[in-house]
Amino acid sequence: MVARFIPRGTNLFARTMYSAAKPSLKNPALFRQQSLVNGQWINAKSGETFAVTDPSTGQKIGECPEHTAEDYATAIEHARTAFEDFKKVTHRERANMLRRWSQLMTENINDLAQILSWENGKPLAEAKGEITSCAVNFDWFAEEAPRIYGDTIPSQTPNVRIHTIKQPIGVCAIITPWNFPASMISRKVGAAVAAGCSSVIKPASETPFSALAMAYLAEEAGIPRGIVNVLTTRKNIKDVGRELCENKVVAKVSFTGSTNVGKLLMRQAASTVKKVSLELGGNAPFIVFGDADVNAAADGALASRFRGSGQTCICANRFYVHEDVYDEFSKKFAEKVSGLKVGPGLVEGSQQGPLINKAGIDKVARHVEDALGKNGKVLTGGKRLSEIGDNFYAPTVIANGTADMVINKEETFGPLAVLIKFKTLEEVVKMANDTEYGLAAYVYTRDIGTVHKVTEALEVGMVGVNRGLITEASLPFGGVKESGFGRETSKYGLDDYLVVKSVAVAL
Ligand code: ADP
Repeated sequence: MVARFIPRGTNLFARTMYSAAKPSLKNPALFRQQSLVNGQWINAKSGETFAVTDPSTGQKIGECPEHTAEDYATAIEHARTAFEDFKKVTHRERANMLRRWSQLMTENINDLAQILSWENGKPLAEAKGEITSCAVNFDWFAEEAPRIYGDTIPSQTPNVRIHTIKQPIGVCAIITPWNFPASMISRKVGAAVAAGCSSVIKPASETPFSALAMAYLAEEAGIPRGIVNVLTTRKNIKDVGRELCENKVVAKVSFTGSTNVGKLLMRQAASTVKKVSLELGGNAPFIVFGDADVNAAADGALASRFRGSGQTCICANRFYVHEDVYDEFSKKFAEKVSGLKVGPGLVEGSQQGPLINKAGIDKVARHVEDALGKNGKVLTGGKRLSEIGDNFYAPTVIANGTADMVINKEETFGPLAVLIKFKTLEEVVKMANDTEYGLAAYVYTRDIGTVHKVTEALEVGMVGVNRGLITEASLPFGGVKESGFGRETSKYGLDDYLVVKSVAVAL
């Protein structure tokens, strides 16, 4: 990387400084511009491609095949054939493959992180963290694979014995978003391989290169051809989505993305009664009680809101701060936020990358405008950083938040925190639950009674108590309400890829 870094305080990178910020890969074979189907690197049947651009600069990164629904149907057929053999591979052998895949992710972490940072814009340090999480997920599922136990169950009928076996569900369709281009795939395909399933993966068209690099390493890890297939598409997405949901061979659809697309996929998958798991939008409340360690809360808020420039589904989106600590928290938090170094992910030292695209930054600007129009007060940020690039927005904190601001209803998916004052536990729980989403929530308090009361009352799938970052392989990840269903990673992460078969034997 050629770009220089401007010291803390200056905070801005001039456009010219990073036009040369490109990955330098030790293993260039990891950067692939073709899809992997049945062990072959292929183009679209039509020969069409689409361009992928760097969100920091708008410059072209490369091209990927524009596959049609028909191309995906062919891949699904290959996945079906491959599954017939793979389901007979022992659990231990599948574990060994996943362990090898994990090792390869770690060995290639510098290259993989650069590819990820380039296409997504997130800082290199975060990209490395994401690749590490992929390696850990593969290890986790390697450890789970040999422990797919059935049950022995006493029968109510004399001379009958009942037992269950857990079998792989079959061909899985995996659809993933751009905000975690690698880890969202690892938590799905890791489980699929451990269970003995084959997969057809459709990565987001904004960030296909991380997925293709992982597919390359899956081959290197000795996972049989046809088990991990990755195909790219952009303009044909609706047809492809329908194919993945309606093709009779596909047994399961696993999706991470927006609630609206999740609803559409669920409707489509109903036509063949497929097993579905959905990890959809969130609108996480972050609650700071009057007895909280305010400095720790400000650190947690920073980590939770500003990771991935605020573009994660479990990002804190609504900040409720008790009136006793409101001023202190606002000051500390705004200070920390104003110290964030903004710049392209590939530039060393960047802590905040760009938004993914124009729609992303326009939404942040709209939410800021709405808050300011309702008496919000900017403590830091509040503007685009066009001098760095079209997709950069200053990390922003706004005080005097009110319940009627649009940020309470919509997920901002950007670097904006609006602070709302509260008085009582009952009042804050009511406000926190007043949303159709239910993915994550964060609570800061030192009172054990408050911990239990609030964690039990919040309508979400995950709660961080005195923690702003909660994701790890052992934590069941998933939501309630319109944030979806199904749990990824953890001891439950394999369940969606398995079917329980019950056997009743007459003696
Ligand atoms: P976001 O707004 O974060 O991009 P989306 O839900 O649109 O969220 O995208 C998440 C994933 O879903 C991406 O891989 C995207 O290409 C895919 N996707 C979008 N629309 C459809 C659709 N109609 N059918 C199947 N997949 C879709």
